[in-house]
Amino acid sequence: MIDARDFQTTVPQRFTSDDDWFEVLIISDYLFAISEPRHYEHTVIYLLLGSNRAILIDTGCGIGNLRRVVEQLTTLPVTVVNTHTHLDHLGSNHQFSEILMFDHPRSRNISSEGAPQEVLVWELLRKELVTPPWPHGFRHEEAALPPFKVSRWLKQDDVLEIGDIHLRVLYTPGEAPDHICLLDQTHRILFSGDILLNGPVWSHLDGGDVSELQKSYELLMRHYDEFDVLMPGHNAPCQHKGLLPIALAASEEVLSGKAQPQAGVDLWGRHYNKYEFGRISILSK
Ligand SMILES: [Zn+2]
Repeated sequence: MIDARDFQTTVPQRFTSDDDWFEVLIISDYLFAISEPRHYEHTVIYLLLGSNRAILIDTGCGIGNLRRVVEQLTTLPVTVVNTHTHLDHLGSNHQFSEILMFDHPRSRNISSEGAPQEVLVWELLRKELVTPPWPHGFRHEEAALPPFKVSRWLKQDDVLEIGDIHLRVLYTPGEAPDHICLLDQTHRILFSGDILLNGPVWSHLDGGDVSELQKSYELLMRHYDEFDVLMPGHNAPCQHKGLLPIALAASEEVLSGKAQPQAGVDLWGRHYNKYEFGRISILSK
């Protein structure tokens, strides 16, 4: 069983893939964290191995051949579950045939339309966002997010039974209006997407809302006894679950006006107010 305290004192082993765009950490014998450390977003994708199927939580920025890396890690058939529709979390969806998403107009739209190349370039492929070189065989000027087929639309409190893994869907808007967390009831892990991580929670984006975020933290607190460790969608994997009450208190301080912000502008020109609370910070409009 994973214990968050162990992860603060031991460094997980690395798996060396032949694609150096991705860094693969072996979290346990059933869980890999696949990250993109040379991208500004530093997204983290998780591959969870069940008895007869694997679950891939998010598919990253769409740079490099994620499917090839996944096939080096498992021969099991793979089901993708996306935490939300920001482009850095579904960039390689089209490489997989079994995809589950939360049922929200934004998810329906991106799956049927994909994303135009100019949007992809602006959001993810500008030179300010990537430390070269591009991975072998990747032509950023031809990159695209084609439409992809969704096999099942998820609802709040759905429990996915995939082999021996039970994943509960928890609808947690605030950073994105279609954001979900996934509670692995088998291994007592909360895959927390973009709302609980070591770093900033970007609620200043289109569709972000700190009052929604606060309600999402309250919802997660109702499941606090059901997990031991967090697996966030950016930066370092394996965070202690104690980050959740800190984030809840932080969102309440932002909403009550008690916390003092610092104004800033992100790399995409969007203005924000930043509220710092140690390991976590909250950006609001
Ligand atoms: Zn994200």
